[in-house]
Amino acid sequence: MRKVKVDLGEKSYHIVIGSGLGEELQRFIAAADFSRKALLVTDSNVGPLYGQQIKSLLQEAGLCVELAEIPAGERSKCLAVAESLYTKAIELGLDRRSPIFALGGGVVGDLTGFVAATYMRGVPFIQLPTSLLAQVDSSVGGKVAVNHALGKNLIGSFYQPKAVFMDLSLMRTLPKREIATGMGEIIKYGVIYDPDFFSFLEQNRQAVLNLEPDAATHMIARSCEIKADVVSQDEQEAGLRRILNFGHTMAHAIERETGYVRYNHGEAVAIGMIGAADISCRMGLISESVKQRLIDLVERMHLPLLADGCDVDAMYHDIFHDKKTVGGKVNWVLMTGIGSVICRDDVPEDVVR
Ligand code: NAD
Ligand code: ZN
Repeated sequence: MRKVKVDLGEKSYHIVIGSGLGEELQRFIAAADFSRKALLVTDSNVGPLYGQQIKSLLQEAGLCVELAEIPAGERSKCLAVAESLYTKAIELGLDRRSPIFALGGGVVGDLTGFVAATYMRGVPFIQLPTSLLAQVDSSVGGKVAVNHALGKNLIGSFYQPKAVFMDLSLMRTLPKREIATGMGEIIKYGVIYDPDFFSFLEQNRQAVLNLEPDAATHMIARSCEIKADVVSQDEQEAGLRRILNFGHTMAHAIERETGYVRYNHGEAVAIGMIGAADISCRMGLISESVKQRLIDLVERMHLPLLADGCDVDAMYHDIFHDKKTVGGKVNWVLMTGIGSVICRDDVPEDVVR
């Protein structure tokens, strides 16, 4: 078992990573100052697999828990589904000290976090992420949101959980493609922050893809540490946190251009990282061999390298309309090596194209 502290002053909390964390979770609840009534939110894939097991655990810890199951998929991350959860919370009589648990991937985490942040101006929120992407990315950092018909994650807040429990034993059922998706973000952490972690991934590729306990625990813990490190230096995304956006400028455009169906987020990030590495190379910031190392790792983690079905003009236009575009300039996160990046807003149009 590994523990990672997310250091945010009064809002600090722990991420606990390991296999079979039931007792750890129960100890945490026993020590917390929660009301008895609680809500456990999950989705229609994760609910039938683990909903009852986790509900029983929480009941044994003394909580009176109601399980709410939302349809699986990104479409549930919306105000209408949030409203149905508010209704449930009110009907159950949840008060300001009632904990709300998110059991599932990033969709359940972001939606439930948004509800926890806003119900009665904020109630205790606990994350139980079950997808690799949720464990290494969306459950760390406190961004919670729902989508609007006109754009993703447009309605949201920063809201830190009281704790995060990542139980590897709940990932046995995770589809292979979802594991590769998480790898996109994990490779990103190596590129932006830690050359040794990048080498670890190169050397332990099969073990991490198979989610072997030791390798997977280290991979997840190190990813959380890196994200926590960056976030704790810049909680509200004023500066440093931007480096987490490596690969994402193009990824967001790819996702929009392909209607969010052809590529999932981690796959789009993989392609976007190759794009950013290519720009870095053309700008003279890295050598071809550094770019090739990234390409090799992305490919060997079963992630795509190139986007099919994207029109260059449409993509270019799209990049300039991303919500992270400030003052008409695109702030590219570019590589200066494995483990180090810089932000540049002076990339010429022909290089991007
Ligand atoms: P997801 O929640 O849709 O989960 C992916 C799929 O895996 C779903 O079908 C889900 O039901 C299933 N699943 C999850 N755990 C499972 C398990 N243990 N066994 C079997 N099936 C399982 O998607 P995701 O990739 O986890 O997260 C994507 C979401 O996260 C997006 O909405 C994205 O915007 C958000 N996100 C947020 C942040 C943040 O900082 N808040 C960061 C990155 C991504
Ligand atoms: Zn991402």
